[in-house]
Order: sequence, then structure tokens, then C-alpha cells
Amino acid sequence: MNISSTAKHTLKGAGALAMCLALIILITGCSSADKKAEESLFAMDTYMTFTAYGKNADDALKDAKEIITSCENLWSVTKADSEISRLNAAGELPLSKDTRDILAAALYAREYTGGCFDISVYPLVEAWGFTNGNYRVPDETEISELLKRVGEGKLSIEGDKAILARGSRLDLGGIAKGFVGDMVIKRFKDSGISSALISLGGNIHALGSKPDGSKWKIAIQSPYDQSYLGVLSVSDKCVITSGIYERNFTAPDGTLYGHIISPFDGRPVSNDLCSVTVVCDEGRLGDALSTALFVMGGSKAVEFWKVHEGFELILLCTDGTLYVTQGVYGSFEPRNNTAVTNVCEIKR
Ligand code: AMP
Ligand code: MG
Repeated sequence: MNISSTAKHTLKGAGALAMCLALIILITGCSSADKKAEESLFAMDTYMTFTAYGKNADDALKDAKEIITSCENLWSVTKADSEISRLNAAGELPLSKDTRDILAAALYAREYTGGCFDISVYPLVEAWGFTNGNYRVPDETEISELLKRVGEGKLSIEGDKAILARGSRLDLGGIAKGFVGDMVIKRFKDSGISSALISLGGNIHALGSKPDGSKWKIAIQSPYDQSYLGVLSVSDKCVITSGIYERNFTAPDGTLYGHIISPFDGRPVSNDLCSVTVVCDEGRLGDALSTALFVMGGSKAVEFWKVHEGFELILLCTDGTLYVTQGVYGSFEPRNNTAVTNVCEIKR
């Protein structure tokens, strides 16, 4: 509501009432168009928060929680009756459309990233204990046996059915939150919401801008503690971070193992990267990419960015250098952080 245009009316009858209402709205700063609703949810092993503005915001947030809960029930590997668990057990299963869609997105991501993102890596994720927290270091024989179940051609989709190669099993943990975030944003748009922020752990989806028109400010978390590396200003973007700090364990010999597994050697990735943040339009791509680029390591990730369009990166390396690609360099404000020694812009 525009108070100055309302003020032009004569203060009589309905006009006076409209003026009073407009004043109340101005004082509280809250029109139905920017009514704020907030919710939270623990799902997909993650504390999630949702903020949306608009007259349908309450219902939209209720829908968001339902979408996420129902996808978790379809995709969780720790729920024995989820579609993915039943597919993993049976090797072949007719699937719901949402599950077929996420599998298609995962297959696309596998090809796009040269096999660095691969949902068939599950037997290794499980063997290292990342599924249930019973961490262990499998021996070389076990790793090479399990690696035979991972890679190209292990999953195919025929009609409404998914078919796995013998012994192969899937884990959507590297893409599920990005994919479901896209579903929630679509539902928001369908409900007429044009300003919202959802935070699904390391996956942030920003719809539009803040109600006052300014950009959303997204803190990029430090991999080492609860502080942050800097603040990124965005509108209509996903900001998705992968790192070894989310789930990891230290073996008796002191080695730190993180939950992102190389589909090539079957071991938790250990390279020059501490965290990878992808900024892009679609969560499904950003989520798969953040995992895949972590597998690639710093220089290959930068090379990949140079030859592919449609996303930007913030990479923290083990030597303390923070690399920020040119498309987001100007919108990123680094913060004093012990993890960062210098910030470099990467250009094409
Ligand atoms: P993210 O936090 O998005 O990087 O996803 C990490 C999760 O994806 C892990 O906890 C595993 O469940 C799964 N995962 C691990 N390594 C890979 C990989 N190379 N490709 C696809 N998914 C993976
Ligand atoms: Mg991911």
C-alpha cells in the first residue's frame, strides 16, 4: 500500500477509514504483501529454517514442511520403507515421479561432473560408517570390492522403473536437499510468494529479494568453527556449501576422514579444499556441484568453472586462501576469520 497516494483522498467516510488503515500499516510496517511467517523443521538429519513474506506465507511454509517430510520418507537410506531403501534392497522398483526426477537429476550430474558426483557411491559411504555413525576404516580389499559396485551404468531408468546393477545401492544425500529446496521454491512461487529464504543446513535458497528490495545477506560458514568466512549478497539464488566439517571422524592414527567419498578410489576425499560454496540458480545443480567440486580439488574445480557457465564459486583452501570467482567477487564481503589468510578473485 502506498501511503502518499492514499493521502491524496479527501478525509471523509471510506476515504478516512482507508487513511486510518494505511497509517496503522505504515506504523507497524506490515502490509499483507510483506507479512512475515517463520518455521523450522528437523529433517534429512538437518535443522532447517524457513522465512517467507506475503499473505499466503503461513500456508506456504506448512506446504514446505510437508514437501520435505514426504521427500525424506521417499529418499532416506535410514528409513527401511523409503523408496530408495526398497530399491536398494530389491535392485529393481517402480518409483514415484519425484523419485524418478531426482534420480534423473543425479544421473545428469554424474555425467556433467565426469563421475565425481555419483549416487552409487553408497556402499562406500556405508562401509566408512557415515550412514549410521559407526565409523571405521575399511581395508583395501573391502574398498576395491565395494568400488566394483560404483560408477557408470550402475543405475538405469526404464519407464517408471529404476534398475540397479547387482550389489549397487544409492544414496541421495549429496543432492536431496538441493532438489527439495527447488521443489519448495516452486511451491512458494505458485502460492504468489516473491520473497523468501530457506536454509537447509549448508543449502540456502533465496527467493527474490528482501521485502524492502535489498538483497539477502548470506553468511558463509567457516569450516572450523561457528564463525563465518564472509557475507554474500544475493537475490534469486541458491548458495550451497560442502565441506568435511559437517560429518567426519578421526581414526585412531589421528587421520581426519570426511563424509564426501571419491567414487574413483573409494576413500574420503582429502585434498587442498576445506569447503566449496556454489552460487547458482538451481539447488539440484548447486548441491551436486558442491559435492563434485570438493572431489575434484582446488585446481580442477577452478578449471571446471572456467569451462562451464551458470554458477559461481567460493573455495576455501587448506593454506588459508579463499578463492572467489568474478561473478560473485563484488557481492562478497570477507570477514576477519582465522581460517582465511588472503582472498583472491578468480577470472575466466
Ligand atoms: P554434500 O553435503 O551435499 O556434499 O553431500 C555429502 C553426502 O553425499 C554424503 O554424506 C554422502 O551421503 C553423499 N556422497 C558422498 N560422496 C559422494 C559423491 N562423490 N557423490 C555423490 N554423493 C556423495
Ligand atoms: Mg551436495
